[in-house]
Amino acid sequence: MSSQRVAVVTGGNRGIGLEVSRQLAAKGLKVVLTARDGDRAKQAAAGLQGDVVPFALDVTDPQAPARLLELGVVDVLVNNAGVFIDRDYGGLNLPMEVLRDTLEVNLIGPWQLAEAVAPGMRQRGYGRIVNVSSGLGPMSEMSGGDPAYRVSKSSLNALTRIFADELRGTNVLVNAVCPGWVQTDMGGPRAPVPVTQGADTIVWLATLPDGGPTGSFFRDRRQIPW
Ligand code: NAP
Repeated sequence: MSSQRVAVVTGGNRGIGLEVSRQLAAKGLKVVLTARDGDRAKQAAAGLQGDVVPFALDVTDPQAPARLLELGVVDVLVNNAGVFIDRDYGGLNLPMEVLRDTLEVNLIGPWQLAEAVAPGMRQRGYGRIVNVSSGLGPMSEMSGGDPAYRVSKSSLNALTRIFADELRGTNVLVNAVCPGWVQTDMGGPRAPVPVTQGADTIVWLATLPDGGPTGSFFRDRRQIPW
């Protein structure tokens, strides 16, 4: 039996997800690089070295959990795919379709995928789930603006605590991470953090040793408040 760990990365075709895929493959994991567009997944996977397999996966697709399970064993799930589509709004004028679209990608997608892979991880006694959150998510810093994005990431943080608690003692470690303000399409041209650094803590959490932390929130490999 192969001892090579299998990692699924969502939104792996560009930005932080692409870099996480690159770093995990360089560490010797088999990476299933997923993207909502199958051709983009293929193109991105072809540009990486190591054991990288492209896979079409829209995290909002109700069939996504079943499709993920077709892969067989999943040891690591990186819930990275995300949208930030409410920059022009406040909580008082947010169109509800923007809220729904945001929650579908940033909360319900990660939830349904984690729910799909957790039973197998628990059964095999190994799993790492990394939820890519944001500095706009913590309740300790909650303020106005970007309301759908903030609520989605705050909820993703809550999801992290719930899953970590329900899986405690099973060697399935579930954590959230703020990558910083990262130089990607989402981060924009003024972002100070290179994508290699933005991916680092995610990869660290995805490859934690047994007995590592669970149910916590990290930035730059250090725990931060919720
Ligand atoms: P990005 O460059 O905009 O990339 C977003 C990725 O998510 C793309 O691959 C995109 O695919 C994918 N995606 C969007 N909707 C999807 C869906 N329905 N199904 C599957 N994939 C979907 O953003 P990024 O900066 O790399 O962000 C990655 C994660 O980090 C996000 O969760 C984001 O909230 C978080 N984050 C980023 C920053 C930052 O400063 N960049 C800061 C804090 C947190 P397409 O190419 O098909 O659109």
